[in-house]
Amino acid sequence: MKSYRKELWFKTRTRRAFVHITSQVEEAVRESGIREGLCLVNAMHITASVFINDNEQGLHQDYERWLEDLAPHEPLERYLHNRTGEDNGDAHLKRQVMGREVVVAVTGGKLDLGPWEAVFYGEFDGRRRKRVLVKIIGE
Ligand code: ZN
Repeated sequence: MKSYRKELWFKTRTRRAFVHITSQVEEAVRESGIREGLCLVNAMHITASVFINDNEQGLHQDYERWLEDLAPHEPLERYLHNRTGEDNGDAHLKRQVMGREVVVAVTGGKLDLGPWEAVFYGEFDGRRRKRVLVKIIGE
């Protein structure tokens, strides 16, 4: 069995952002040389997510509104977590809802995604460098 590891780095200009990363994950699969196996993609930070859904702008705005309804950034005092002096209590909750990782089958050297599936990095406390891990195993 072969394995391949790669880190993708992101620094979003805004506090919250959704970044389409399917092509970067596909590139890692090509680099791995693995034809049949599994590809794990996970955020390495507890205020960011990796998830799969439609690549559609309206949907991204819907996420933003929905997540702000669930866990608004302000007032900061709303979150016990912010008593530590941080201001990202909301970002931890948003990450919990949107998930930590995805696993995608690798078939014939390609990501075996459904017709409308795309891989995204979800940032909830950005404007600093953060990492996503890609780990591919197979043969
Ligand atoms: Zn925090």
